[in-house]
Amino acid sequence: MTTPALPGARWLVLDDYTGEVGEPDVTLGVCHDIDGLFVDPEPIPPPEAFTLLGCDPSGPLQDALEHMGTERAWLPSIALFPVHQQRPARCLWDEHGCTCVEELIDVTVIGQRPSAARDGLVDLDLRGYVRLLPEWGLPEEKPDATGFRLAALDDEKLGECLDIAGVFRKRPSAPVRPVTLIGFRPEASLAGTIEGRKITASIMILQRDGHTAGGAGLLSATVVTARPSRLGDGLLDITLDGGIEEPTPSGAREIFQMRYDGGPAQPNQWARYDRLLQHEWSSLALRQRPQGLPDKPAGTTYHLDGRFVTDIDAFYCAIGEAINGPGGYFGWNLDALHDCLCGGWGAASPFRLVWHHSDVARRHLVAGYDRPSHRLRDWKPRIELDDLLQIFSEHAVEVAFR
Ligand SMILES: [Zn+2]
Repeated sequence: MTTPALPGARWLVLDDYTGEVGEPDVTLGVCHDIDGLFVDPEPIPPPEAFTLLGCDPSGPLQDALEHMGTERAWLPSIALFPVHQQRPARCLWDEHGCTCVEELIDVTVIGQRPSAARDGLVDLDLRGYVRLLPEWGLPEEKPDATGFRLAALDDEKLGECLDIAGVFRKRPSAPVRPVTLIGFRPEASLAGTIEGRKITASIMILQRDGHTAGGAGLLSATVVTARPSRLGDGLLDITLDGGIEEPTPSGAREIFQMRYDGGPAQPNQWARYDRLLQHEWSSLALRQRPQGLPDKPAGTTYHLDGRFVTDIDAFYCAIGEAINGPGGYFGWNLDALHDCLCGGWGAASPFRLVWHHSDVARRHLVAGYDRPSHRLRDWKPRIELDDLLQIFSEHAVEVAFR
């Protein structure tokens, strides 16, 4: 989509929420800058304490218990499936269990004692995190349950327990960073008094040519003040009482600027960024990829520069450039890589991938656990080189290590 030109405008505020289904989205305005869109990431929070009460551990949990005090007292994930006596109204079933499930991640077993609940059961003290997925609701109230079934990532049984302490409680909400739209030109849809208006809108990235290129966040807040902007006649600086959901890390501002200026001309410009920003790099590469280009034919040989592939996010940057050139995109997680290998993203399979300096990936893409940022949702066992090779082999991609 294109928008009425406002030279230098970088962001378009698009109400794609409040209209009826089928109605077109409404442009509220465009602006030069948004204070509060780019924010320094939060520090990684301290671990929490949990207790599995009246627990009968089995499998890897029993194993962790027997190795308390060593690194083997650790589990990447414990899923907590409530055993309902009466299923609450908000509970839905799927093939894995019910929607009341919660997941503990990065868990260390730190203590045990005989349980008062029943002979033979133990109370287990754990240290770790709850995987918080705010869009599915936070674990504040314990679901109606006579106990919990415990399972590992691959559904392997970890035993059961009668109750759990420490998981279901209110947690401090993320700090709100109020947003200011700077040099904002309202469209007719915002005619009249702006102050006091509730705005629910996507922040869309504007390219230099006036086209939009994907979203940069969701804004849901009320206008506190709307004052004339020093950036031009008729423009406003609009202060709101709330912020952007999941703001972009502040270091990514430079990457947005680079893409606004036409994108990287040379490969490996991403190599100077940390993982969090490399993830933003791939995310922008996805949103701004050229549309409608045919795939290069099957049988093509591509060259991956492996010198900077020290983690999985670096790999996604490198494979994007190997297939689609500087700033190119070819997946930013395993599912997306799989999709790209099915065609339509720059390369028809099968193809040949020459992976140069593969010793770097062999050293770094090894077994382990990834805590790439403060976002607990992203924490999981590390993706290994073998996982990538398996996906390539499923799509008949021949990988030649150099
Ligand atoms: Zn349920």
